[in-house]
Amino acid sequence: MPETEEQAFLEGLFDNNRAWAKRIEEQNPGFFDRLARQQAPRVLWIGCSDSRVPANEIIGMLPGEVFVHRNVANQVMLVDFNCLAVLQYAVEALRVRHVIVCGHYGCGGVKASLKNHELGLLDNWLHDIAALGRRYEEMIVAQPHKAQQVDALCEINVIEQVRNVCETSIVRQAWRRGQELSIHGWIYGIQDGLLHDLHVSVSEVKVVEKTLADAIAAPRLKNKER
Ligand code: ZN
Repeated sequence: MPETEEQAFLEGLFDNNRAWAKRIEEQNPGFFDRLARQQAPRVLWIGCSDSRVPANEIIGMLPGEVFVHRNVANQVMLVDFNCLAVLQYAVEALRVRHVIVCGHYGCGGVKASLKNHELGLLDNWLHDIAALGRRYEEMIVAQPHKAQQVDALCEINVIEQVRNVCETSIVRQAWRRGQELSIHGWIYGIQDGLLHDLHVSVSEVKVVEKTLADAIAAPRLKNKER
């Protein structure tokens, strides 16, 4: 018998898992057997670690269908070997067709970057987003409420992370050798569970600058009710 509430909670996770595996196998006999032999995802998802934005679930994908990298505030830094290793494996070994950078409104990381509180190590991690906040300050403060200012920076952050993906040697080389690969920027609404396209999809190097410039210049928060 479980000794504590936490032990019971953890045991419940195993119960959930057994029920889930049974359900999947019933709906799709041989599912795990096939997956054990290979994975062939079409999508690399780069999203926020926020527990409310589970990659597979919100796009209705099963195990094996999405390769995933998540970190605080869905960032792609050119010095982050973790993210770059995921990107390289996804593009070069799995040959995904799509890289989706997905942010979300109300992102705690983005919110923290707009404040002057000291958070320790997290300040370093959020440094680039704070710099974006300063670079696009005029656009951000044009939003009437604090929450909307955060959401405006959430959108800008996705667009700039798409730029970072496009600037990696991994993506540049893939395009150079003619590999079909599209990069997309989406944003998710925690309040309604809906995804929105920020219209920054690019699949060749020559359209990157114009597409991203147009997306940055577009009205902010047009997907949201004002
Ligand atoms: Zn977040």
